[in-house]
Amino acid sequence: MTVTTDKRVLIVLFDGLRPDLVRPETTPNLHRLQRQGVTLTHQRTVYPSETRIAFTSLVTGAPAGRHGIVGNSYIDRGFTPPRYIDTGEAQVVEALDADAGGRLVQAPSLGEALASHGRTLAVLASNSAGATRLLNHKAAGLGHLTLSGHHRRAATSVPMLAAIEARLGSLPKPEPKGKPDLAAQQWLTSAFLDVVWPELTPDVTILSFAEPDFSSHYIGTAAPGTLHAIAFVDAQLGRVLDWWEAEGRDAGVQIMIASDHGHLTARARADVAGALATTGLRCGRAGQPDVDAVLIPSQTGALYLRDPSEAAVRRAVAAMMEAPWCGPVFTAPRNEIDGIAPGSFARHLAFAEHARSADIMFAYRADDELDPFGLPGGTWSPDWALGYGIHGGLHQREMASVGIAAGSAFKAGFESQTPSGIGDIAPTILSLLEIARPAEMTGRVLEETFQQDNDCLPRVERETHESAAGAFRQGLVRWRVNDTIYVDHGWAES
Ligand SMILES: [Zn+2]
Repeated sequence: MTVTTDKRVLIVLFDGLRPDLVRPETTPNLHRLQRQGVTLTHQRTVYPSETRIAFTSLVTGAPAGRHGIVGNSYIDRGFTPPRYIDTGEAQVVEALDADAGGRLVQAPSLGEALASHGRTLAVLASNSAGATRLLNHKAAGLGHLTLSGHHRRAATSVPMLAAIEARLGSLPKPEPKGKPDLAAQQWLTSAFLDVVWPELTPDVTILSFAEPDFSSHYIGTAAPGTLHAIAFVDAQLGRVLDWWEAEGRDAGVQIMIASDHGHLTARARADVAGALATTGLRCGRAGQPDVDAVLIPSQTGALYLRDPSEAAVRRAVAAMMEAPWCGPVFTAPRNEIDGIAPGSFARHLAFAEHARSADIMFAYRADDELDPFGLPGGTWSPDWALGYGIHGGLHQREMASVGIAAGSAFKAGFESQTPSGIGDIAPTILSLLEIARPAEMTGRVLEETFQQDNDCLPRVERETHESAAGAFRQGLVRWRVNDTIYVDHGWAES
């Protein structure tokens, strides 16, 4: 075995894993790593709390307003007529990037930063092909390996995929909704342990498990089938830790664990079209005829208006704030804090101000009521099957994400109470590899987690913003740590 002092990094992602589901009895291997490393107890994702937004923030160290992937789906007004974009397919991401002159993602990505220093990023992911691509969207051009656990077309390169299939068997087929997606997680873990690490030894590897997100969405957030999926991906981490404790750690590998958001349970139907109809606005989906306000599907509340005038935005927001499902609302800025619609915040208060952002961004109202499995966290939803897991808003259970870091660089058995975010992972990795970070990376280096701490505790301040219109009140809590600001959570009541 070659022992090198050079550090390498393995990031293991658990899509949609809530920190309160990480327990010694349900996730013994995550707990095993916690004992050896640092647990980030105030780790947050970005708003909106959706996978492809958060993955892009993870690799760019920047929020949606800076990197520009403002939703799993969004409307791009850069096209005439404006075009509805769903970033779920790898080919769509590639075509959009080509159309945008290579600027689909508007901040430099970890893969690019590594490549410019002759280093490599390998991605092994079982998420959607689009999410997989966004973890290193320039991989093909950079000569970096990307492997999807399901989608042949997401692979870079085809010969490498063929070589791995020859060793491990064919790519597992996607599972039907309602059944845990297990085989792909096992296949990808084997691909890393048996082929990618021994043969390529990437400087940074992202191993991304699509569970428990897939089971939470289609079986239920704390349903037995989902807990089984959590135990299964935890066991895959166990295989990785067996390798790490035997040789990876001595080879300088640092492990960082993250989830991209939590989950709430959809409990009641939000009638957005009904609320807007009271103002004469016809609300529908992209592509439907005679629609005044396009509502983006799923849980990222986003409304794009045909007439985005201030008067129209104010009228629509006033009607929404009368509705029981309305959570925090964000519109174009009136000033640093307030949006143009009374009672709303400026989009930039949540770092979501971008040319692609919706005219009206909002979260669906959420609370801590128990779901059928005794787990707190419920929400209104425009379209999700009631009783099943969903995310995209600003509730603490959606914004809280898992964060663990372990290896020679990190403290052992340490709980860090300092707020941190998914956008801190890339800057921290570049710091460990002694690579200067791009200026667009606004996340910070998590120095308080380092073994060789500079003993300078970060300055932490909590900010609460509130706004009201009539009986409607909303709030946004943010943390400021030195010069970095995190959105903690938001709420609304009426
Ligand atoms: Zn996700």
